[in-house]
Amino acid sequence: MAPTVNRIVKKRKPTAKLMLGGVAIGGGAPISVQSMTKTDTRDIAATVRQIRSLERAGCEIIRLAVPDMEAAKALGAIKLKVKIPMVADIHFDWRLALEALRQGVDGLRINPGNIGADWKLKELVAALKDRPVPVRVGVNAGSLGRDVLKKYGHPSAEALVESAERHIGLLEEMGYSSIKASLKASGVLPTIEAYKLFSKKHRYPLHVGITEAGPLFQGLIKSSMGLGMIFSEGIGDTMRVSLTAKPAEEVRAAYEILRALRLRQRGVEIVSCPTCGRTCVDLKTLVGKVESRLKGIREPVTVAVMGCVVNGPGEAREADYGIASGKGEGMIFKRGKVVKRVKESRLVDTLVELIQKGLGG
Ligand code: SF4
Repeated sequence: MAPTVNRIVKKRKPTAKLMLGGVAIGGGAPISVQSMTKTDTRDIAATVRQIRSLERAGCEIIRLAVPDMEAAKALGAIKLKVKIPMVADIHFDWRLALEALRQGVDGLRINPGNIGADWKLKELVAALKDRPVPVRVGVNAGSLGRDVLKKYGHPSAEALVESAERHIGLLEEMGYSSIKASLKASGVLPTIEAYKLFSKKHRYPLHVGITEAGPLFQGLIKSSMGLGMIFSEGIGDTMRVSLTAKPAEEVRAAYEILRALRLRQRGVEIVSCPTCGRTCVDLKTLVGKVESRLKGIREPVTVAVMGCVVNGPGEAREADYGIASGKGEGMIFKRGKVVKRVKESRLVDTLVELIQKGLGG
């Protein structure tokens, strides 16, 4: 981690450690990346296909909506065919949670206060004690209880925290503490405030995200701002970027956010110049080709693609490898030093070969 980053990102707040399948959450474990399937959970084949593509993208935990018993009963068959831990996302119906546990899920997302009669929660907690898995209490600004809303007037940070505390309290009273929490609003500022407030008071690990962040462009900006500020406070143990987009984009965005703060490094970071009057090539196409040829690399590596040979290598001195394009030809450089001058048509191939050789591939 670069020294400047150490001064920006506060030390991670201490939280209790939970195991979700084989993935550690909290207690200083790396911030894990989650997503949620967008398929109908009852469609086992389509759901497995989507989870596998998410696994390839680097997703570490997957959440599935469980709207009815048929979906709950599909979980076991899905679990047999995927590698990453599965969390069943359930609203209200404790019977679905009981079935999800029977089907072997690694975690539940359910709010105890929404289950209804005491005996139903007791039944669920008894099943959890038999097969302990983490439960995420997830409060959303859009679905706060009427009395909490009445007390605070609007879904403020305090309202979100109090709502989470009420749900958590019900589990604690019954002696169950394998809990993580999330406090999400679609607004960036109330979300940040709620996480800060909660983490001052509790040591439960936190699942962080900006909920319903919007379509790709807007969602990326809101999530980057919100999660960036939350992480810079040392808060957050596992994350999801919520986008109205393909789920693999959520995973990709999560890693970019973590990388920008030097919290986790995975795959290729492309540094490319914005182009200017000195640019002699179609840099956008060149960047696209480099990005697609290096897509499979998991090791952290920084690659610069610059539009001119005059300033390019200097501007991208920190990059591990790079291209600086001139008229009809360009330079390949490694850590700011030119290693080769090649024709424009050979730039991408030469760069990729050099990187693969350097990574031992
Ligand atoms: Fe312009 Fe060269 Fe800088 Fe790109 S690297 S913005 S082409 S000066």
